[in-house]
Amino acid sequence: MISVTAQPMQEAPEVIPVMRPKLPSADHVLPYLRRLDSSRIYSNWGPLVTEFEHRLCEHFVLPAGSVVTANSGTTALVSAILATAGRATLERRYALMPAYTFVATAAAAEQCGYEPYLVDVDAESWALNAQTLLGHSALERVGVVIPVAPYGRPVPQAPWQAFRAQTGIPVVIDGAACFDGITAWPEPFVGRIPVAMSFHATKAFGSGEGGCVVSVDEPSQQKAFARALNFGFYGDRVSRSAGTNGKMSEYHAAVGLAELSGWKDKQALYVDVIERYRRKLGAAGLLRSFRSAPNVSACYALYVCSSASESARMQAFLDQRGIDSRLWYGNGLHHHVSLKDAPRDDLQVTEELAPRIVGIPMAADLPDSAIARVVSALVECLAVGRSTSSTEDVTYSAAAQR
Ligand SMILES: *Cc1c(COP(=O)(O)O)cnc(C)c1O
Repeated sequence: MISVTAQPMQEAPEVIPVMRPKLPSADHVLPYLRRLDSSRIYSNWGPLVTEFEHRLCEHFVLPAGSVVTANSGTTALVSAILATAGRATLERRYALMPAYTFVATAAAAEQCGYEPYLVDVDAESWALNAQTLLGHSALERVGVVIPVAPYGRPVPQAPWQAFRAQTGIPVVIDGAACFDGITAWPEPFVGRIPVAMSFHATKAFGSGEGGCVVSVDEPSQQKAFARALNFGFYGDRVSRSAGTNGKMSEYHAAVGLAELSGWKDKQALYVDVIERYRRKLGAAGLLRSFRSAPNVSACYALYVCSSASESARMQAFLDQRGIDSRLWYGNGLHHHVSLKDAPRDDLQVTEELAPRIVGIPMAADLPDSAIARVVSALVECLAVGRSTSSTEDVTYSAAAQR
């Protein structure tokens, strides 16, 4: 037998994912699941979904009935659109939305028959500006406006209520990542304009898949969300309005209830991770470019690069060091193949902003070692960039081969 001298292998460091979700353990979900065995109700607003909706109302300190659950954030948005605006008509076929968002905003509008019409965002808020849109030339053909809460930064109701009153056009807010933002301060962000939220595993608060519509409105309006989520049925089996199957199952409600019970602990973990990130970034002089909770939802750690080329270099640099990063909203909706022909305004701000906002690793239990690796990679990448402004690419590839 030939003996091979053991060469110490250069071990590649473990890849740090950009997001590592953590939902309640099986032990925490089990007591809720056991209730399914006796109720034998598995969907259609059974006892667990009903309890989940009640507890979410209490959590947000809203009147009973203000929360209607759905099986995803996207169907929550669909139900809010169908209930407030109905399906698209020939005269009003556009859904006005920001180009800077996750593709689900457009998908929801398309499911309701609308053609997404992409408008630019504000450079400071990263969101639509209600005031600016009042004079938009396409308004006569717009059936619904869908402002988006960028990275869960909640959208205030007041300007959109004014917009709706002035134009008569229904407004629905895509507040997919707003759970923690609205928890912190519901008052300005909840009202008659429905807010659709997502409980997808990657969001701060998760049930695997799931979502809800939050609104403080007439009970008839809240019923309309539930009707849209259940084929247009309400109380009987006659479909009276446009609908789909967007109901949350009792299984998902079980996870959601356990997640809600553990929310305070999960939130404390997030706060701790963000504190540790901020300390390390602060020591490196990089805090100014960092965005995290409470500025955005706790599931996002964002590094705002100074240019698209710095961002591209950073993403490649992180990748080489086994650190996952992501442009969560890509380069804007119009860069998706399916939306490349969507009617749109000049998207100067989106074009400039989107490539620069880099999602860096986040998790409720992100260890110190991961934070240290991410921050030192950022420092190293930026130092390489600074020392080589004109011969950037050449020097970078040399550095990358070290
Ligand atoms: C997550 C997200 C959605 C979609 O939610 P799902 O629960 O995955 O359907 C929609 N819009 C935005 C802005 C999101 O971040």
